[in-house]
Amino acid sequence: MDNHEKNYPKNIFKYCPGCGSADFIFQTDHSFKCLDCGLHYYINSSASVAALIENADGNLLLTRRLKDPMKGSLDLPGGFVDVLETAEEALKREIKEELNLEIKEFQFFASSPNRYRFDGIVYFTLDLAFLCKIVSFDDIKPDDDAADYIFLPPAQINLEEVGFESIKNIIASYRKQKS
Ligand SMILES: [Zn+2]
Repeated sequence: MDNHEKNYPKNIFKYCPGCGSADFIFQTDHSFKCLDCGLHYYINSSASVAALIENADGNLLLTRRLKDPMKGSLDLPGGFVDVLETAEEALKREIKEELNLEIKEFQFFASSPNRYRFDGIVYFTLDLAFLCKIVSFDDIKPDDDAADYIFLPPAQINLEEVGFESIKNIIASYRKQKS
């Protein structure tokens, strides 16, 4: 991991959140250690989920991002796993929230790390992708973080239009496995 980006936690967290000391030192293991009170805080990956959903024609369901980061870019439906939520619960919740779809079956596909830049700080994420089967597309409706949706033949997806590196990687792996 390179640590040069100005919005990385290393370059933003200047004081110990426990005692306010300025001797809150970033370590090589991506943790901060306070030299005054001993507080030791790790920067971990946040978990997020992404769904690979095909329609009956074998076209992949993509969303168009409504909000920053990467507003307007193509994305897979999904989002952050809430605190103390399982990835399975997050998958079902996000697909319902973004597209009003109900997942019938799912299977883990692959994971890919990402840098998620939001409101002045970078969150490191681990995006968990699942192959999903949907009960019915009849009531599909974009909402929440999704401005719109589109079904595309996997081979015709322009990866330049996909905002996140992790999602590009996941779609590329998916295409490779299908070809
Ligand atoms: Zn402290």
